[in-house]
Amino acid sequence: MTEPESSGLILVGGRWIATASTRKVVNPARTAEQVGRVGQADENATDDAVGAASTAFEEWSRTSAQTRAACFADAVARLREHTDDLVRLLVRENGKPLSEAAIDIARSIEMMEIAAHDVPAWSKPELIEPGQPVWIRRRPRGVTAVISPWNSPVLLGFRRWVPAVAGGNTVVLKPASYCPLTLMECFRLLGPCFPVGVLNLVTGPGDIVGDRLVGDPRVSTIAFTGGTETGRRIVQRSASTLKKLSLELGGNDPAVVLEDAVLDNTAIERMTRAILRATGQVCVAVKRIYVHRSRHDELTEKLTAAFNRTVIGDGLNDETTMGPLNNRTQFDFVRGLLDHADRSGLNVKVCGRKLNPDGWDDGYFMQPAVVTRGTHDDELVGCEQFGPVIPIVPFEEDRQAVAWANDTIYGLRASVWTADRARAERLADRIHAGAVFHNNHGIFGDLHLEFPGVKQSGLGHESRLMGFDFYVDSYGFAD
Ligand code: NDP
Repeated sequence: MTEPESSGLILVGGRWIATASTRKVVNPARTAEQVGRVGQADENATDDAVGAASTAFEEWSRTSAQTRAACFADAVARLREHTDDLVRLLVRENGKPLSEAAIDIARSIEMMEIAAHDVPAWSKPELIEPGQPVWIRRRPRGVTAVISPWNSPVLLGFRRWVPAVAGGNTVVLKPASYCPLTLMECFRLLGPCFPVGVLNLVTGPGDIVGDRLVGDPRVSTIAFTGGTETGRRIVQRSASTLKKLSLELGGNDPAVVLEDAVLDNTAIERMTRAILRATGQVCVAVKRIYVHRSRHDELTEKLTAAFNRTVIGDGLNDETTMGPLNNRTQFDFVRGLLDHADRSGLNVKVCGRKLNPDGWDDGYFMQPAVVTRGTHDDELVGCEQFGPVIPIVPFEEDRQAVAWANDTIYGLRASVWTADRARAERLADRIHAGAVFHNNHGIFGDLHLEFPGVKQSGLGHESRLMGFDFYVDSYGFAD
């Protein structure tokens, strides 16, 4: 198969240029297959990208909201023409099944539609005090560094660069090294829709390129999605110039299943999706279940049956319902957790069907596992596994489940499964998470809605209209 046109290149001031060296991006379903190459930019190239974004900001920041909306309308049309190719490329570099990759690309396009549609009205000054007229006006901030992870690279990259550019800022995007190609292709296709220098993209090691970006005094805003440890590093590195930071970080989402929960097919299907989507490599996946002891066996049996219906294989095959893990590091980490659980006497029930047993060892394939006979103190329960595995721990009383749910540095999402909505609301008030779902978990259907994580899962993000307000400074204008 041919490599994408942008393979191995970076985008600086409207030009795709080569870096001194490149690295392979492999297909996690067939690691011998090179999907493309990722350029290894150095500090100088990173500085150049920031320089190009700073120069372009002068003009772009003065364009009208209508002009910016028109650029996004063009961008929507342009990406739509290439949807199929982008979906397949995403599957080949990330591993997720076609159906999930198609959702990522469709939703990314939808974000640009929101920008095209909503930016003019959002940009209008808002009268907040009619007595003495005071208007809230919005002003773009400058260069935004957008740093994204490998698990849903396109969706999470778009979630940040689209509102930044819609607000009149310019961006330097740094995609994750394991999975940069589809984002690179999107920027190649979108380049002509925006003035030169509005979109820039650099690739290379996070601790060189990312580190340089977040320390650059010309970068005024950082929108980072990734691990909590990297988030801490970014806070330190950017402190000397006090940048505006939005950090969307790791999670260890609990699902609390009460004794009156309705565990019908719909509930089990929802729970399974919330655990196994993207092979469990989702920040807002259910990563631990606390179930009332009276329902423990029933839930375990039903979830095991659902996990057994999983078909694990190459995401490009229509039969596949779960692809491989994305990379060797993640594969070894999850494998290590399961081996440790097994050695510690937990019951690790491996489930699902291998689509192609002969090619199993060619990729980072792993069967999903339901793990029982453990406790809240197990390593598998306390860490962010980011894999197709679910520990189920029984509890006796609601307050014990709430205490365990909160016993973590993380606070992205949580869910309460009960037939009693009022009881779900009462528990939701006591669980520290950015959003708590009742009889469901994880994702909002409406892209306008986004709730930032609490505790060490997030910082600085805003919820309304895809967080547009985060990327601008609001100032008062008074008569
Ligand atoms: P990392 O934090 O390792 O990497 C994220 C991005 O940061 C990559 O582009 C990486 O580059 C870059 N990076 C690495 N080191 C630095 C540095 N010193 N300075 C600046 N940038 C750096 O996360 P993963 O890619 O492993 O993603 C998985 C994590 O992301 C999980 O913890 C998951 O929960 C979290 N996540 C959170 C989401 C949320 O919305 N809350 C959504 C999705 C994921 P490189 O790839 O080159 O190392």
